[in-house]
Amino acid sequence: MLKLNGLSKTYKTGDTALSDVSLDVQKGQLIGLIGPSGAGKSTLIRCINRLVEPSSGEVWLGDVDLVKLSRSELRHQRRRIGMIFQEYALVERLTVMENVLSGRLGYVSFWRSWLRRYEPRDIQRAYELLDRVGLLQHADKRADALSGGQRQRVGIARALMQDPDLLLVDEPTASLDPKTSRQIMRLLTEICAERDLPAIVNIHDVPLAQAFMQRIVGLRAGRVVFDGAPDGLSEAV
Ligand code: ADP
Ligand code: ADP
Repeated sequence: MLKLNGLSKTYKTGDTALSDVSLDVQKGQLIGLIGPSGAGKSTLIRCINRLVEPSSGEVWLGDVDLVKLSRSELRHQRRRIGMIFQEYALVERLTVMENVLSGRLGYVSFWRSWLRRYEPRDIQRAYELLDRVGLLQHADKRADALSGGQRQRVGIARALMQDPDLLLVDEPTASLDPKTSRQIMRLLTEICAERDLPAIVNIHDVPLAQAFMQRIVGLRAGRVVFDGAPDGLSEAV
C-alpha cells in the first residue's frame, strides 16, 4: 500500500534528518514509529505527504510516486492520506460536526460549500463517524468546549471523513493522560482493523507502542535501527 524507497532529507540548515529509509507498509498494518527526540520521526511522517520535501527517494502510495508529482497533482493525491495531529488542529469556533465535515473538503472549500449547505450524504456520513468515535451527542458543541480525548476523537473522525487509503498520525496522545491515551490508541487500532486501513503512528511512548502496534519501526539519527514485532524490541534495545 505504501512503499518508501531510499528516503532521505537534509534540511537547508545542514541537518540530515533522514538517511536512506526504506519501508513497506501493508494494508491494515499499524506501524509505531519510535526513537529519541531528533531521530527523524516527524520528518519521516511529513516527507510522506510532502509537508516536508524529501531530498531524495521515492514514496509510493499504491502505484503513484508522490515525490514525482506536481503541486496540483499532489493536492489531489493528498486526499488519500488522512492526518491526525498531536494538537488536534481543530477549528475552535466551529462545531464538532463542522470540524468533521471540513475533513471531506479541506478548509477553504469547506467555507465555500458551507455557504451552499452540505450534501445530505456527507452529513449522513459525518453522523456515522461521530457515532463510531462516541461523540454523537456532542455533534453541535463548539470544538473548544471539548476535553482533550474528545478533541482527538474529532480529529480521528475528520481524518476518516476523507475516506483515506492511509493514516499518518503524529504523536496522537502526547497531550493526553495515560488512561485517555490508551482509549484513543484502542479506538485507532479498532478503526484501522475494521477498514483494513494502514497507519504510521509517531509515538514517543514506547510501552504504549508495544501494547497497541503490530509492528515497530525504531529510528535513530535518521536511520531505521529496528523493524519488527513489538515483543522483539526488548531484546534489540
Ligand atoms: P526546508 O529545507 O524543508 O525548506 P528549512 O531548512 O527551510 O526547511 O526550515 C524550515 C523552517 O524550520 C525554518 O523556518 C527554520 O528556521 C525552522 N527550523 C530550523 N531548524 C530547525 C530545527 N532544528 N527544528 C525545527 N525547526 C527548525
Ligand atoms: P523527531 O520527530 O524524531 O523528534 P525530527 O524529524 O523533528 O525528529 O528532527 C530530526 C532532525 O532534523 C533533528 O536534528 C532536527 O533538529 C532537524 N529538523 C527538524 N525539522 C527541521 C527544520 N525545519 N529545519 C532544520 N532542521 C530540522
